[in-house]
Amino acid sequence: MAFGYHGCYLRIDVSSGSAQRIPLSDDVLRQFIGGSGLGVRLLLDENAAVVDPLAPEAPLVFAFSPLVGSPLTTSAKFAVVSKSPLTERINDSLASSGFAITGKRCGCDAIMIVGRAPAMSVLIIDEAGVRLEPATEYRGTTCRATETGLRSRLGASYRIASIGPAGEHLVRYATISHDGRHAGRGGSGAVLGSKNIKAIAVRGTQLTEWANPSELTALSKSLSKRSFGPATAKYRELGTATNLLTFNRFGALPTRNFQSGTFDEAASLSPEELGSTRSKTRESCMTCTIGCEHIYSLGQNGGVRVEYESLFALGSLCGVSDADAVLRASQRCDELGLDTISAGGTIAFAMECVERGWLNEPWLKFGSGDALLRAIDLIGSREGLGNLLAEGSRRAAHAIGHDSIAIAPQVKGLEIPGYEPRALQTMALGFAVGARGADHNRSGAYEVDFSDKVDRRHVTLDAVRHAIETEDKAALMDSMILCKFLRGIFEDFHAEAADMLRIVTGWDVTADELRKTARRIVGAKRQFNLLAGWTPAEDTLPARFLNTPLPNDPAASLSRERLDGLVTEYHRQRGW
Ligand code: SF4
Repeated sequence: MAFGYHGCYLRIDVSSGSAQRIPLSDDVLRQFIGGSGLGVRLLLDENAAVVDPLAPEAPLVFAFSPLVGSPLTTSAKFAVVSKSPLTERINDSLASSGFAITGKRCGCDAIMIVGRAPAMSVLIIDEAGVRLEPATEYRGTTCRATETGLRSRLGASYRIASIGPAGEHLVRYATISHDGRHAGRGGSGAVLGSKNIKAIAVRGTQLTEWANPSELTALSKSLSKRSFGPATAKYRELGTATNLLTFNRFGALPTRNFQSGTFDEAASLSPEELGSTRSKTRESCMTCTIGCEHIYSLGQNGGVRVEYESLFALGSLCGVSDADAVLRASQRCDELGLDTISAGGTIAFAMECVERGWLNEPWLKFGSGDALLRAIDLIGSREGLGNLLAEGSRRAAHAIGHDSIAIAPQVKGLEIPGYEPRALQTMALGFAVGARGADHNRSGAYEVDFSDKVDRRHVTLDAVRHAIETEDKAALMDSMILCKFLRGIFEDFHAEAADMLRIVTGWDVTADELRKTARRIVGAKRQFNLLAGWTPAEDTLPARFLNTPLPNDPAASLSRERLDGLVTEYHRQRGW
């Protein structure tokens, strides 16, 4: 067996409480590595594509990687992979915390959960084996309260991943939380909730060995040193929100449900402004030497981790400039276990439906922080209008009618992140073809738009190969699993990634092999989607983006014919 792996995954049926260790061959591990790649492969083996994602038999996979547990910076990560209840397509959410290291120490390369526990339970995996314990006292509690309660019940040596009330209520974009971080997109929290599992607690002692320990130490030191350099400085200084004002200047900051790419009050949400009026601290994911996380104080209400995506989705997208309301909304999403992008996108969509007279909820107005907070609480509990919005913007649009689907900000059902597609058209292609829907983490095509390789407001077929390159690279990073914020420090990512894998596993991996591996993983996601019922009509954007130029920037215009041409060329170059 290769170094860095345990050579098996743990398959747990929570209906019966039984668990099996199932061997993983070196061939499978080398072909899919870990994280997203391994997770997709395991789902294909289980025939998960044709199963209702909230049915007991639907598998939910926590996949680690050979790098987890090593001193390599940003490597303490895991992927949560399942069929998405929001999109009914493949979903892989990446997350970072001690849960990755401790989960792998349970002696497996992945944990697969199937079945449905008879009552709300916590799944415990430790040296004594696998067992379920009652968790009914945690019903309705926030993610943080659940984790705190379980730590005092089980002991501080356990690492815990949990769902909040949103996961219990099967909100289709509920998250799985761990140490205040989230496996955020696509509704993996609802999948765990459908299994009656409130939390998973892991503790283990089984370490993997490294093929070349001294080389690993040297490489880790070198990577850590480089991670302090200029390529990551902006994340350290201002966090992911660093680009908010730049996006606004480029007309790429989605505003009022994508009715505009500029927000007049953007300055009030900028990290520069937030930092001048509030105290903040900086944190890192475990093993990370970059530390992009900026936690802002909310006074008596504690603190909140601020990300660009949350500021855009709960701020400009909903027209809310009251920074306190936006930060509180972000914190409330964390407590309830809600994906901020999908929550903000669905609420902003509903606000526009109210504005157009398609939805009779007069309180739900653009710009109202109170309405935003009220809507989030209703979604988390599925009360009143929240029951509709808990379904996400695509399903809500089908219920509202009036051709509102044209303005629902989603692709394949996943709400669009904070990149206006008409102003960033390589990204528009990346969104349209994304296997899990509109996604800035599975396609880094916005990087191409901000380079001199394309005219971002009028991309041509030349952009396609660049979009493919970013998607392949993301698939590789998500399978190894490394933080995307490291990408700027590599001179030749594939060569260095191959070296990393060689040092950890002992395989004679080459850069060319990894390029093929990346394509194999993208292809596996595609295969999953085909089995799940994918049709070519899904690889597109909502009509809003194809019929109307950006109001303040008429040059930012994308016709349906041009997007279709880009998508067709993408499929051709993929060989699909
Ligand atoms: S750069 Fe940020 S997101 Fe990435 S591992 Fe470090 S703290 Fe986590």
